[in-house]
Amino acid sequence: SDIGSQKERVVTEEEWLQKWEMGNIGFHKEIRHPLLQKYLDVLLNGRSGLRIFFPLCGKAVEMKWLADMGHDVVGVEVSEQALKEFFSEHSLPYCEEPVPEISGGKMFQSTSGNISLYCCSIYELSSSIVGKFDGVWDRGALVAVNPCDRQRYASLMINLMEKNSSYLLVTVSYDPNKHKGPPFYVPESEIKSLFG
Ligand code: SAH
Repeated sequence: SDIGSQKERVVTEEEWLQKWEMGNIGFHKEIRHPLLQKYLDVLLNGRSGLRIFFPLCGKAVEMKWLADMGHDVVGVEVSEQALKEFFSEHSLPYCEEPVPEISGGKMFQSTSGNISLYCCSIYELSSSIVGKFDGVWDRGALVAVNPCDRQRYASLMINLMEKNSSYLLVTVSYDPNKHKGPPFYVPESEIKSLFG
């Protein structure tokens, strides 16, 4: 389980913004992720009205799905374009406000109030800004984080979780010497050491 040459690879924020501008977003899916449907009961664990976090959210359609179920959805994404596309593609009215704690940070919130999407780097968030979460849907997030930032990412995620929370993580398995990523290959052993 060696991650080979991926260990040194860095994708900058500018490169992500460019992917959105170019429409180079093969990671975005129009249909709900089958694994979220399959493990929804594990995420909810019989509870309703949860606060659910979508790290590195893009314009994931599952945010609308969970909000329609009555949960409060919070996401974070560096691309403002992605967030605006999310609201317009679901015909959701929203308002935009600055986030005083984050320089240049903005928050886009559905008028109904149950979807709040932060436009900034995830590393600028903390529980004092966004609070803590009962559930996390991590798809295309840990695997999109630069390998050198994984420890920092995992510590932050642990910090953002309530005591009795559930974290659904989707990873991909492949030979890391054959593709440069993202998505990056994250060995099971590393997931264990990151999250305990
Ligand atoms: N989770 C989404 C998007 C996955 S692609 C989905 O399932 O479709 C990863 C996304 O993370 C991209 O949209 C990229 O713009 C965003 N991103 C990359 N680095 C980030 C960072 N440091 N903070 C917030 N968003 C980031």
